[in-house]
Amino acid sequence: MLSNRAKSITPSLTLGISTKVKAMKKEGKKIINLSIGEPDFFTPEVAKEGGIEAIKANQTKYDAASGMLELKQAIAEKLKTENNIEYQAEQIVISSGAKYSLTNTMLAILNPGDEVIIPSPYWLSYPEIVKLTGGVPVFVKTKAENNFKLTVDELKQAITAKTKAIIINNPSNPIGIVYSKEELKVLADELIKNDIYIIADEIYERICYADFTSVAELSPEIKAKTIIVNGMSKSLSMTGWRVGYTACETKIAKAMGAIQGHLVSHPSTISQHAALAGLKEGAEDIAAMKKAYQARRDLMTENLDKINGLTYIKPEGAFYIFVCIGALRDTLEFTDSLSLTVADKLLTDYQLAVVPGVAFGDDDYIRLSYVSSDDDLKAGLSALKTFFENNYDK
Ligand code: PLP
Repeated sequence: MLSNRAKSITPSLTLGISTKVKAMKKEGKKIINLSIGEPDFFTPEVAKEGGIEAIKANQTKYDAASGMLELKQAIAEKLKTENNIEYQAEQIVISSGAKYSLTNTMLAILNPGDEVIIPSPYWLSYPEIVKLTGGVPVFVKTKAENNFKLTVDELKQAITAKTKAIIINNPSNPIGIVYSKEELKVLADELIKNDIYIIADEIYERICYADFTSVAELSPEIKAKTIIVNGMSKSLSMTGWRVGYTACETKIAKAMGAIQGHLVSHPSTISQHAALAGLKEGAEDIAAMKKAYQARRDLMTENLDKINGLTYIKPEGAFYIFVCIGALRDTLEFTDSLSLTVADKLLTDYQLAVVPGVAFGDDDYIRLSYVSSDDDLKAGLSALKTFFENNYDK
């Protein structure tokens, strides 16, 4: 009955966790939830006011399919001043969240059977979006010893005549790695040589504790083949408002606008007004949230360092830590998936929710988010320590 497209989709593993978390909470259990992928801060007042004003001013009708001109101009200005990249407003397309910006990108550039390289571990929606839009995900396993950063040799081995694009997520979910300018340049040069589009998912750009370079900034040739994907969900804590955007060459932007026009028209005008206010006046809020995340990152690593046998990649951006549980492979009983077993035991026996690494393509890891209070983070890590001590080296 279902289309092959629908059948090709892998059900979300995280959904199963949140269903169980909800059920346990209903039973009155207190769950420490470190599985969440969204900021715990409220949307800044300036952005909320922008939305309220838009409603009062009756900005509630259809607008341009590719997004509001004023917001596109503000995004172009942001890209110029913060990232040193010049785009015209017509090169920006505003969509209902970065997720739809990614979908729009794939719809605009992929033909059936085109390959899209996805460095693994990866954010779990990438392969599904590629499949849904007719492409073929090609995973490239990166190595923990390289901090899971893609190397040019790994890239070269993955390129075929069918490679159309690559997704580079910087800073990354689930690892929090940040590519340096030099690392990006080596990869981008190889991609340009092979005429491959770079889909640069930079949604965590403003939650970055190291120097951030946008790949499009590196040269005009690289910029011409890059589609920047970004949005307001993470940096402005506006997940529910659904505002994302792309910046790319005009031809692709026009195609995306046309596609979006038929499928969804455009994101809510109210949300776009809120995003505009947030972008123009939210700098202080963004900086304060980043500072809080960085302090929590430090709190997490200090406590993780106290757990014998456990290793992790120190994150330089986003709000996740990818923690290696591989040491339990010989000591913990499990059937199919180590990370699923660990996540399930942590939730059932220790009331701690985490995401199993298998959801991101690596079963030796779990992902912890630090979008909770210091007390919850400490309690969560204390539970993880007890679990590890009970199961490691037995
Ligand atoms: N890209 C990455 C790497 C993400 O982690 C997420 C959300 O979790 C998104 C894109 C989607 O963000 P949005 O809420 O703007 O659709």
